[in-house]
Amino acid sequence: MTTARLPLVVGNWKMNGSFAHNTALLQALATIDVVDVGVVIAPPAIYLAALKQQLIGATMQLAGQNVAAESQQGAYTGEISARMLAEVGANYVIIGHSERRQYYGETDAIVAKKFLRSQEQGLKPIICVGETLTEREAGQVELVVSRQLLAVIEQCGVQALAQAVVAYEPVWAIGTGKTATPDDAQAVHHLLRQLVANYDKNIAENLSILYGGSVKADNAASLFAMPDIDGALVGGASLIASDFLAICHAAKASLVVG
Ligand code: PEP
Repeated sequence: MTTARLPLVVGNWKMNGSFAHNTALLQALATIDVVDVGVVIAPPAIYLAALKQQLIGATMQLAGQNVAAESQQGAYTGEISARMLAEVGANYVIIGHSERRQYYGETDAIVAKKFLRSQEQGLKPIICVGETLTEREAGQVELVVSRQLLAVIEQCGVQALAQAVVAYEPVWAIGTGKTATPDDAQAVHHLLRQLVANYDKNIAENLSILYGGSVKADNAASLFAMPDIDGALVGGASLIASDFLAICHAAKASLVVG
């Protein structure tokens, strides 16, 4: 990892949590030494406001896991707007997670709209891209991740990536215990950075590209040692305080090594 880009570790709690569990997890994470490492947690939206209160004085930040594609308030039952997420204390929002694309039919066009809505309200989108196993086996990794990122660049302009984070999350590695090898992940991170560099070298150089897909305490360091891997989007391991802490510490250690 290049030291100009400070590491970022984002914990995606998905549809997990309860008041009791969240409080216990947060207390255990309170020991986190986050100097020079950005640490963000993405709880279910219903818990954001309470967690914001509990985080007073802490440097950890909050993210939404999803956001409405609509800009106006109104008759969109069940949706949560970017303005609402910002109002309850989110700084980031995860956009286009593969579970949203897969189970809720989110297309590249919808994801690009969500990206736009988020930035309009000052939220930093964490845009997820990644191929399925079938796509990987068909040699389509570059095609798929480029298409997903280009949808955002075409809709929002490359400048928008100056206030965003990209997460490469191979779908076959999410929640499966299978991780891309550091070299395979690095190859995709590099091609994503090159794609952005074709539009703007400076934005590409400063863009944080996280890896996600079964990141654990024991594989984080080797991933973070790669020059284009700037941190992690962590699912399962973010629910276990000791695992998440170990991943954050690996991110910090990568600064010394890198
Ligand atoms: C994720 O949900 O973004 C993720 C990477 O999950 P896991 O770490 O459990 O594979």
